[in-house]
Amino acid sequence: MRIEVLGSYGGESLECRMTCLLINGTVALDAGSLSQALPIERQVGVHSILLSHSHMDHTSALPFFIENVYGQSSGAIDIYASSATIYAIRKYLFNNATWPDFTRLPNHLLPAVRFHEIQSEVPVEIDGVRFTPIEVDHLVPTHGFLIEQGGASVLWSSDTGPTRRLWEIANRTRNLKAICIDTSFDNALQEIADVSLHLTPHTLEVELKKLERQVPILLHHLKPPCVERIHREVAELENPDIDFLEQGRVYEF
Ligand SMILES: [Zn+2]
Ligand SMILES: [Zn+2]
Repeated sequence: MRIEVLGSYGGESLECRMTCLLINGTVALDAGSLSQALPIERQVGVHSILLSHSHMDHTSALPFFIENVYGQSSGAIDIYASSATIYAIRKYLFNNATWPDFTRLPNHLLPAVRFHEIQSEVPVEIDGVRFTPIEVDHLVPTHGFLIEQGGASVLWSSDTGPTRRLWEIANRTRNLKAICIDTSFDNALQEIADVSLHLTPHTLEVELKKLERQVPILLHHLKPPCVERIHREVAELENPDIDFLEQGRVYEF
């Protein structure tokens, strides 16, 4: 499978785009930078989006992406998310006040957007790729995903504090090629990381004790002001399995 990193940060600045992966060119995982990171011709090729949770750094490109592909996509854009995420997006984003309700445009029978509710640990298959939502621990209901195709598996979680199930799945998944995980704040901001349920290099190191195998760990969702300090503190861990999920890079698994 081909995973293109459109945005790998937990905030936005000149060089940092917000969380968004593109899988095999057609399925987006989160939509923090879907409208900014791709030319419109390629945005038109994206017809499905999975959302980890409702926070803006994962959803803020949705209104502009949908406007960009409106009338050009063949059929509706399918958005897969938990009931809590769908509720929040309908209520606070596509509410006709913040942005038009694209689930009823151009009309409710042939809408531009359709929502599909996902359940924890019930896989959905999209374009031959299997996505299994896994509950993680964040301020709002949030899923990581086990992504599987052609015998290769990648475990991806964005926002989470210390968590349990993700590591259990990591320990039992065959052909696991990589684990992508949150490292939002540097160690000096541990208190903020704890109350907002994110990881720092310190809590990452503690979390990795739950992992019973050797597999590449790719860090992402760094907050832009913390990037340099996180890189320094991660280097100090001297763990050769740890690297950063690189924005703009295409990974083949
Ligand atoms: Zn986030
Ligand atoms: Zn979040």
